[in-house]
Amino acid sequence: MKYDVAVIGGGVVGSMILRELSRYQLKSILLERQEDVAMGASRANSAIVHAGFDAKPGTKKADFNVKGNALMETVAKELSVPFCRNGSMVLAFSDEDLETLETLRLRGEENGVPMLRILCPEEVWEKEPAISREIKGALWAPTGGIVCPYELTIGGIENAMDNGAELKTNFCVTGIRKDGDSFVVVSPEEEICASYIVNAAGLFADEIARMVGDDSFSISPRRGEYELLDKTQGTLVHATIFQPPTKMGKGILVTPTVDGNLLTGPTSEDISDKEDTETTAAGLDKVQKLAVKSVPGINYRNVITAFTGLRACPDSGDFVIGPAKGEPHLIHAAGIESPGLTSAPAIAPEIVRLLGEAGLPLHPKEDFCPNRRPFPKFREMSDEEREALVQQDPRFGKIVCRCETITEGEVLEAIHRNPPARSVDAVKRRTRAGMGRCQGGFCGPQVVEILARELGIPMDEVTKSGGKSRMLTGKTRGEGGAI
Ligand SMILES: Cc1cc2nc3c(=O)[nH]c(=O)nc-3n(C[C@H](O)[C@H](O)[C@H](O)COP(=O)(O)OP(=O)(O)OC[C@H]3O[C@@H](n4cnc5c(N)ncnc54)[C@H](O)[C@@H]3O)c2cc1C
Repeated sequence: MKYDVAVIGGGVVGSMILRELSRYQLKSILLERQEDVAMGASRANSAIVHAGFDAKPGTKKADFNVKGNALMETVAKELSVPFCRNGSMVLAFSDEDLETLETLRLRGEENGVPMLRILCPEEVWEKEPAISREIKGALWAPTGGIVCPYELTIGGIENAMDNGAELKTNFCVTGIRKDGDSFVVVSPEEEICASYIVNAAGLFADEIARMVGDDSFSISPRRGEYELLDKTQGTLVHATIFQPPTKMGKGILVTPTVDGNLLTGPTSEDISDKEDTETTAAGLDKVQKLAVKSVPGINYRNVITAFTGLRACPDSGDFVIGPAKGEPHLIHAAGIESPGLTSAPAIAPEIVRLLGEAGLPLHPKEDFCPNRRPFPKFREMSDEEREALVQQDPRFGKIVCRCETITEGEVLEAIHRNPPARSVDAVKRRTRAGMGRCQGGFCGPQVVEILARELGIPMDEVTKSGGKSRMLTGKTRGEGGAI
């Protein structure tokens, strides 16, 4: 099979690039090594649409952050993905911190961030009564926002597929070789041909670069641990609350999520294993201690889960965007650490422009449709809307997840839409079944049953997240059972 462009990596960056490519008369494909998309950094991050005052002026991070922030509202609307411009604050706890805020304000202005203002403590408490009484002020950025990162990734890929792009999951790129003018992209199971390649492989983008002889950058993992609290804590703050940044990152934040939970974290720790997404007692302890410094009233008895995200830190310190060394038909979208989620909608058109510059013919498609069909969300519907939906399809009348009010109809939609959900976690990312207080205790078995039925496989072949992560390992009763 010969493609014009193969995008390696199904995170938010690959998703936005595939969508951008689908505006043109091209045969494009996205290759993802996992069983689903949005399983790397785009699954586990702070979900903040940064205003853009952190990055050094003149860097790619600064440029794409501010442009991506401005684009996010339209992209989220077109893809029917939750987004809220809730604003963000950086708190100052000392006179030295106040100086940092002033530096950030000036830096933000230079980057083109509008409406930045330093607030006195009274102004902060008026906006956010739960903030610590120890503060000396805050930098207020009304253009800061929050978004659902995995819905954005999935939504972008679905929209690209509706516009003719293709997706292959479980395709781990292990080699790239040249065949005339084309690339042969190799996985252990199969090969595909493509005239151009985009490298959006997150933490592994340096390994993809080395496959074409480019060793100009390397990427190392930096762990960030989080604790997510239930909806009783979700209204403690309205804006995203940061502490002053350090050289290791933006510090511990406290933020509402678009789904009404409260998120606290992340830590920042350089590690060596690119696959180590364990949480640690020490990391979570640090998250709690620092988060209550900003918002003392957080009740950590309402934690519902903890998780780790791995930042893809490039040795250059900035995004690596441009043609590979010695291989102009492979374009890197690499080293996309924070603010990569915010920047993705702006990185995508730049990558397509670079592909055009490298010789890819770009003829716009007349019938490109930017809008994704909204995913039905029973929990957000009025009684009248619910009744109409149940009349149309009674499976929307059966609640599968009680905590989040998710129906069987939504689980079926997740399994039968593109990109399809094939595991319990894939259903969870698309519907929120299992994301509530009981964390899947009630709905887990039902989701397994529905997946087995719809995919035509035995229940014990249903996985949590692909590979060998089977949900059921054997019988406890009856024939072959232990009891
Ligand atoms: C702790 C943390 C907090 C963050 N907070 C924010 C924030 O609040 N705001 C913000 O703007 N940004 C934030 N970021 C950054 C943001 O999450 C990332 O910049 C963004 O998700 C990167 O997307 P990506 O597509 O480049 O990478 P990923 O999402 O990691 O996707 C890369 C994909 O490539 C696939 N892949 C790798 N190797 C291969 C291969 N050989 N073959 C096929 N596929 C392959 C992987 O499986 C993966 O799915 C945060 C990141 C972290 C880790």
